Amino acid sequence: MKNIIIFGAPGSGKGTYSDEIVNRYNMGHISTGDVLRGEIKNGTELGKIAEGYIQNGQLIPDDLMISILAKTYDAMPAGKGVIFDGFPRTIAQAEALKKMLAERNHDMGVMIELIVDEETLLARLLNRAIEQGRADDNEETIKKRFAVYHSQTAPLAEWFEKEGMRNTFTWKGSKETMLSEIFAFLDTLK
Ligand code: ATP
Ligand code: MG
Repeated sequence: MKNIIIFGAPGSGKGTYSDEIVNRYNMGHISTGDVLRGEIKNGTELGKIAEGYIQNGQLIPDDLMISILAKTYDAMPAGKGVIFDGFPRTIAQAEALKKMLAERNHDMGVMIELIVDEETLLARLLNRAIEQGRADDNEETIKKRFAVYHSQTAPLAEWFEKEGMRNTFTWKGSKETMLSEIFAFLDTLK
């Protein structure tokens, strides 16, 4: 499978659909949120830097995030497509990803955009707060993450549009429906 960038607001299901896609097409998976949470858990220098940003619902600075991403990508098994989950989140990150892949003669592949109404997003994140206890899943931080998403990340959809990579899927109340639409699209790429 080609590389895939999965894109959407906090709680839109990037991680959930990534897992399903990884299983079906036997791909690599890079979740930058998971990478950062792993660093925090292990108490690394990087984790100490990341923690404050995450708890405040802010993005980790681009330079740092881009170098983490390149290191993680180069450690992935070669020859399989990779799904990028949570990256890029800014135009600068998207430009950096494009450059990094071009330098390696790899294709950016396709972007999958998940559109979910904000009421559903908030309900999911509050529910996840109870189930997983993530430090940034509280109502105050969630509001900040939505604001950051709208100001810094959402404009990227247009960037992907210009690259001819944008493929939009809209939540209609059923995970199975969403998944079958995504699979039907990805099956045409194989
Ligand atoms: P979900 O996984 O439910 O879609 P989310 O997108 O808010 O929710 P993660 O992708 O796990 O969650 O990201 C959690 C936090 O990690 C972000 O709010 C941000 O602070 C930091 N982070 C993750 N990826 C990046 C990135 N590419 N650039 C900057 N910060 C990031
Ligand atoms: Mg996630």
